[in-house]
Amino acid sequence: MENKPISRLLRLLSQLMELQGEKSFKTKTIANAALAIGKLPFDVATKSLEELAAVKVIGKSVAAKVREIVETGTMKELEALLAETPPGVVEIMSIKGLGPKKVLVIWKELGIENIGELFYACNENRLMEAKGFGLKTQEDIRKSIEFKMANSGRFLYAHVHGFAKGLLSGLREIAGTELISFTGAFRRKAEIVDGLDILIGAPVLEEVVSWIESSEDLQLVERKDDVLTAESGSGVKVYIRFCTAEAYFKELVLQTGSAEHLEELSSRVKEVPSVIASEEEYYRAAGLPFIEPELREGVFEFSLAEKNALPQLICYEDLKGTLHNHSTWSDGASSLEEMARFCRDEMKIEYLGICDHSKSAFYAKGLSEERVLAQHAEIDALNAKLSPFKIFKGIESDILFDGSLDYPVEILSQFDFIVASIHSVFKMSEEKATSRLIKAIENPYTTILGHPTGRLLLSRSGYPVDIPKVIDACAANGVVIEINANPLRLDIDWRWHQYAIEKGVMLSVNPDAHSVRGFNDIHYGIIAARKGGVAAENCLNALNLTEISAFFESRRAHENTHHTI
Ligand SMILES: [Zn+2]
Ligand SMILES: [Zn+2]
Repeated sequence: MENKPISRLLRLLSQLMELQGEKSFKTKTIANAALAIGKLPFDVATKSLEELAAVKVIGKSVAAKVREIVETGTMKELEALLAETPPGVVEIMSIKGLGPKKVLVIWKELGIENIGELFYACNENRLMEAKGFGLKTQEDIRKSIEFKMANSGRFLYAHVHGFAKGLLSGLREIAGTELISFTGAFRRKAEIVDGLDILIGAPVLEEVVSWIESSEDLQLVERKDDVLTAESGSGVKVYIRFCTAEAYFKELVLQTGSAEHLEELSSRVKEVPSVIASEEEYYRAAGLPFIEPELREGVFEFSLAEKNALPQLICYEDLKGTLHNHSTWSDGASSLEEMARFCRDEMKIEYLGICDHSKSAFYAKGLSEERVLAQHAEIDALNAKLSPFKIFKGIESDILFDGSLDYPVEILSQFDFIVASIHSVFKMSEEKATSRLIKAIENPYTTILGHPTGRLLLSRSGYPVDIPKVIDACAANGVVIEINANPLRLDIDWRWHQYAIEKGVMLSVNPDAHSVRGFNDIHYGIIAARKGGVAAENCLNALNLTEISAFFESRRAHENTHHTI
């Protein structure tokens, strides 16, 4: 065994000891020895206990630990500490610049137990205000997590979107043609992409090669036949393919659909004319109407297309308001008035649903009952001032472990609507998670089920849920399901939207904004909804102010008939 892994295990031991409140002189001795062992000019594994104990920086107690590692590959003490610490917290400790003191605040005070949650918290500005942190530390942490994610070669759609747009417009200029487009997963607007595929319908390979070579952010990786592979500074792979102008639309179809989509499509196409002027012509040759790129996954598009029942996909302009947002009353960074004015004056929408965290979410400054009432007074005053714009009184109520909501009925009945979400105790069996959610759905005060699986893309899989059962329960109780638009969440997944729609369940595209900037995420929610085949009529916040007021009223009538819970 070499010195490096031994040094690493000792360092981890000292960090975990500190994390669990061990005295600092003990942990320092081990940390110093770990550092020294990494630099010693001889192999510590070949030395006896006595020889090691005689080395000044090691000493007797660490020498025993070294021998234990050499003989067993680990230390009993380390294993015991590892068993007490969530694995995600151990992983957090590997982030550059995060020592045990800061990790302790993250874990115990902010309730964060893995890297995904930490990344989410950085994006919500939650770290900035914690003890010992500041904007700079938060940014450093966010960057190193992004770097870790990039190393996996997979990216959130939202993280490559800006780069992709700039790249395409640069290429369009160089290629001097309008026959240029993204293809593949990025064109299908998949939530996660492992690269960007681009098709150019012009013979400009050499021009593109020299453009890449002179570019600051791109590096040419490979050049093979008609395919160029390049890589961006942040690790995004770019594949550029060339074809003739005549072949362009055919290639566009063939390079956009998923394998499943293309297989089904080819079984339906009898003969495609050798030159086509649009993708529509290709689909026509298959006896089908045009299928939007984001639907070309081979999941449900053909069964709708053959009935001529493809939906008019929802777009941003269909939205009349936004529900589920936070303000400085809990963990948001913008005041209620700033949030409302932004919706009214910048987004030009008719209403804002404010849903700060409920009292159990202590790490997010959840509202006590008194603060709920104080917030309602502020909302009343703002509504008088901003009319006809309207702020709806909502709350994001934690779904407690037993499935109940976070306030007594006297308080629950004061809200216009309630988003019920799980924020704690994610370790549950599928049965437990499902019954916990269903109990919350059956609560007559629940209006919307928030981020139903708790997943954080690329970093936390979420609790296991029997989703059809949950959707059926929403259908039975008239509860709306959220499409959380935060690009890390996009939860409920688009693959379930059609099932919800078939059951008559409405969906709500909610940005879960924690500042005015956060409203921008609504675009990613719309992209997810389009992938799921959602039309405006399936979407709660596409209702205008009059319609949604009536909807909330009808839900309140439903509360009154079920007031014994
Ligand atoms: Zn939430
Ligand atoms: Zn929220």
